[in-house]
Amino acid sequence: MNPDQLLVTGDAGYDQARRIWNGMIDRHPALIARCTSTADVVEAVKLAVEGKLTVSVKGGGHNVAGNAVCDGGLMIDLSPMKDIQVDVEARTATAQPGVLWGEFDAVTVAHGLATPGGQVSHTGIAGLTLGGGLGYLMGLHGATCDNLLSVEVVTAQGEVLTANQHANADLFWAIRGGGGNFGIVTSFLFRLHPMGPVTAGLLIHPQARANEILAFYREFIKTSPDCMNTTVAFMKTPDGLDAMAIIVVYFGTAEQSETVLRPLRNFGPPLADLIAEMPYTQAQKMADHLVPIGNRYYWKSNFADAIADGLIDVLTSKAPAMPSPQSMILVFEMSGEIQRKHRDSAAFDHRDCNHEVSIIGNWTSSDDDAANIAWVRETWDAAQPFLRQSVYVNHLSGDEPAERIRAAYGPGKYDRLVAVKRKYDPRNFFRFNQNIVP
Ligand SMILES: Cc1cc2nc3c(=O)[nH]c(=O)nc-3n(C[C@H](O)[C@H](O)[C@H](O)COP(=O)(O)OP(=O)(O)OC[C@H]3O[C@@H](n4cnc5c(N)ncnc54)[C@H](O)[C@@H]3O)c2cc1C
Repeated sequence: MNPDQLLVTGDAGYDQARRIWNGMIDRHPALIARCTSTADVVEAVKLAVEGKLTVSVKGGGHNVAGNAVCDGGLMIDLSPMKDIQVDVEARTATAQPGVLWGEFDAVTVAHGLATPGGQVSHTGIAGLTLGGGLGYLMGLHGATCDNLLSVEVVTAQGEVLTANQHANADLFWAIRGGGGNFGIVTSFLFRLHPMGPVTAGLLIHPQARANEILAFYREFIKTSPDCMNTTVAFMKTPDGLDAMAIIVVYFGTAEQSETVLRPLRNFGPPLADLIAEMPYTQAQKMADHLVPIGNRYYWKSNFADAIADGLIDVLTSKAPAMPSPQSMILVFEMSGEIQRKHRDSAAFDHRDCNHEVSIIGNWTSSDDDAANIAWVRETWDAAQPFLRQSVYVNHLSGDEPAERIRAAYGPGKYDRLVAVKRKYDPRNFFRFNQNIVP
């Protein structure tokens, strides 16, 4: 590593490198290693071992918990590692861990190919894949981690390993859902699928009609095909209306979507129907402006079996009271291929859930921290009777108790993950994360 890749406070680029998506996180690492290669990552790990430094790992820097940045330790910053190579014939792509979904999709879609990513294009491929990966394509092709074929990992000992179904298969199982607990992934090999135009957009309804609209929606999604995915959003429109949007992505042309989508588009009818045919890369950016980089965020979530009437009552009573008009409550639909994959195929769990519910506080001034955090917690508390105890590891906040972290890894799987952790990282070198304690 060149000396100019190691940053300390006061150096040009230090403040930019330590900043992440969640503006609430304002930590100061003693040292930032701006890695550009696997060799740099190995060197950074050895530096931390020798200096007995706490380590944090930054991929896309998007995680709400903010574990990408530590105070006083060494931040291993992978964000300069941006290489993406597509093998069109093999339908695979190799990507480095600093790549964001928007960058990845732009390269693969140019070849008419894609892999399931997240719903916001400025999210990193690394953290999202290692936690599982829920996105619009999960009905057709499963979670992101289901499409991971192989990885290169730098271990806590500074060794470089390959992990896939044939080599270090226990490690490969664990990193697909177990996050950054086992090592630093320096290369991801993904399976790609054909990708053409999509028909996508928002249907906007008044929140006051949520019970009626969601009663219809619940029946509608029971028979909707794998080639479409929906998310319900309780939010305020720019002019302050308490709205409920149904975000729709159908993988096919407007003509192909017509028969399937027409009943959903007609029901209500919506105040606005913003659904149109577009490239996948555009659909992947639909929500970007709702969650700008640098705002202050606090997030609570759980999986759910159903959108129960009681849950709708809680959400419609709490949503209008959100202190910030940028906050949202999202109810993701999980169906199709993600649910058909065998539970033991990867560490990622909770495939039998039908929804994921996320209460997202989003505001700009530190003066408003208390009010916004309180609204998220109160809404989440009130929703508890209608939610599962399980939670998506990538949506955990930074202040979660140990039992929530266990719940994220799923019953029975936590113990299996501990066994893998003991083998690859017995001293818990990688502990600044949703930690699996060896
Ligand atoms: C606005 C927004 C939208 C989102 N949408 C979705 C969505 O649609 N679907 C979904 O599934 N999730 C979604 N998420 C959650 C997302 O999956 C997580 O925030 C994820 O951790 C982001 O990855 P990152 O690399 O950007 O984050 P980072 O903050 O850089 O990393 C998160 C953690 O992952 C670990 N890590 C990162 N890179 C590596 C690596 N190369 N090797 C080992 N460990 C590593 C580290 O422990 C790090 O602390 C969203 C998050 C946000 C903020």
